[in-house]
Amino acid sequence: MHGRRPRFEPRLAPPGETGAEPLCFLFRGRELLVAADGTVPREAELDAASPRPLRRQFLGLLGPLPCWSGELAPDAQAPPGMAFRDLRALYGRLAPELHAVAARAVQIVEWDRTHQFCGACGAPTHPVEAERARVCARCRLSFYPRVAPSMIVAVERGDAILLARSPHFPPGIYSVLAGFVEPGESVEETVAREVWEEAGVEVEDVRWFGSQPWPYPNSLMLGFQARWRAGEIRVDGREIEDAGWFTADAMPRIFPGNVSISQWLIADFLRRHG
Ligand SMILES: [Zn+2]
Repeated sequence: MHGRRPRFEPRLAPPGETGAEPLCFLFRGRELLVAADGTVPREAELDAASPRPLRRQFLGLLGPLPCWSGELAPDAQAPPGMAFRDLRALYGRLAPELHAVAARAVQIVEWDRTHQFCGACGAPTHPVEAERARVCARCRLSFYPRVAPSMIVAVERGDAILLARSPHFPPGIYSVLAGFVEPGESVEETVAREVWEEAGVEVEDVRWFGSQPWPYPNSLMLGFQARWRAGEIRVDGREIEDAGWFTADAMPRIFPGNVSISQWLIADFLRRHG
């Protein structure tokens, strides 16, 4: 990827007439409107019977294709042949480059929807021309799309991996530990703090693994691998209801699929120990 021109080019305003038919990423809440063929509708496919967006945002260019996002009313109905699909359920069904734009789109739509008024003085905001921001007409406070950094870590002890389950997981499912970065913290400090808080163990040799945007609602998952240093597992019973060290031949159930960085971390462990 390094040095390659990215295929998606963010822009604030559409280019002049390009002849390319725009793609429309229209959301009803967190559900994307998809066409009959399961892909993102082109502008020409949306006729008079299609729901009208309450607000639209220009996102940029995917190759030659202009991309728009739009916010639909909560009661919007899909036009004949189209359907609303939860973005998460579209992993692996939508082409990765389209899913990536959709993940961007849903966050821009939600940011725009929730920043029409200033959080400090309550006056209306308006878009800034030079950057993706809204500014308060009265007190000039600026509002940018929010990205919440979170760490996710695979901790290993010998030939075992630390997996835990949250009460929010489906029954029986375990995964690696994750948590939000707090203000004033380095992400390496977040790794050490979260593993200590959630599992009661200390880690060392914290190494970068990779990252993934996770638009549920606006996380950026920063992935690490680390080694156990000290401590025996204890869980608080609230955020984490159970945790343990698992070897490759005795794994618990994990989230099915291979679309998230938690799955990539576990797959990497299994590749080295399986
Ligand atoms: Zn204000």
